[in-house]
Amino acid sequence: MDDLIAFLRARLDDDEQLGEIHTPDCEARNLYGWEFVCRCDLPARRSADIAAKRRIVDAYENATRIAAQGHNSAYAAGELAAYETAVRALALADSHHPDYRAEWRPGDQSAAHS
Ligand SMILES: [Zn+2]
Repeated sequence: MDDLIAFLRARLDDDEQLGEIHTPDCEARNLYGWEFVCRCDLPARRSADIAAKRRIVDAYENATRIAAQGHNSAYAAGELAAYETAVRALALADSHHPDYRAEWRPGDQSAAHS
């Protein structure tokens, strides 16, 4: 599932590179080149959303590492499964991307560890 981690991080990098995006009626769109205070709050929300998703991907990677170190407690296994469910759900938003793999779809976790 390292490839899924890399895939998700690449998509989050893509999102970040889109830069600031404002609502259609945000005054920032019409005052390009002038100082302004954005009131739509969408750029800040996008940044927070990307950061939140990065935290989930990081947590999944950490759970994967702990499991690989042989910590086979029920807690570690449950944490890994829960984060795997979360990152599969995140990746589904980019299922149209050419690098997306069908085996990452939620509900097909038997094929995930092959
Ligand atoms: Zn705005």
